[in-house]
Amino acid sequence: MILLRGKLTAHIHNATNHDHVCENCGDADLDVNVFREYTHLFFLPLFPSSYKDVKIQCNTCGEKKFIGHLQQQYEKSTRTPLYLYTGLILAISLISLPFIIALFQ
Ligand SMILES: [Zn+2]
Repeated sequence: MILLRGKLTAHIHNATNHDHVCENCGDADLDVNVFREYTHLFFLPLFPSSYKDVKIQCNTCGEKKFIGHLQQQYEKSTRTPLYLYTGLILAISLISLPFIIALFQ
């Protein structure tokens, strides 16, 4: 049996930061994108499988930035969306359903 499973990356947050000045162009307009990898089965998200990946880029000149404390800040403040746990929630629901039905009989 072939299971179509693997890992995909979800774009979970987008923000603009005006607190840091770009050394390349001098503009204070950074684009912050947060990604989260997840395991899927038939393209249904099962659960997030790794750390969050924060990518920062200057909106004016396009230069990629590596600002450690800013990346950590967005990593901590961005919540993983509930839909990335869909498979896990479905599995727990299906396992607990017979017990819930048995309680009400
Ligand atoms: Zn720039």
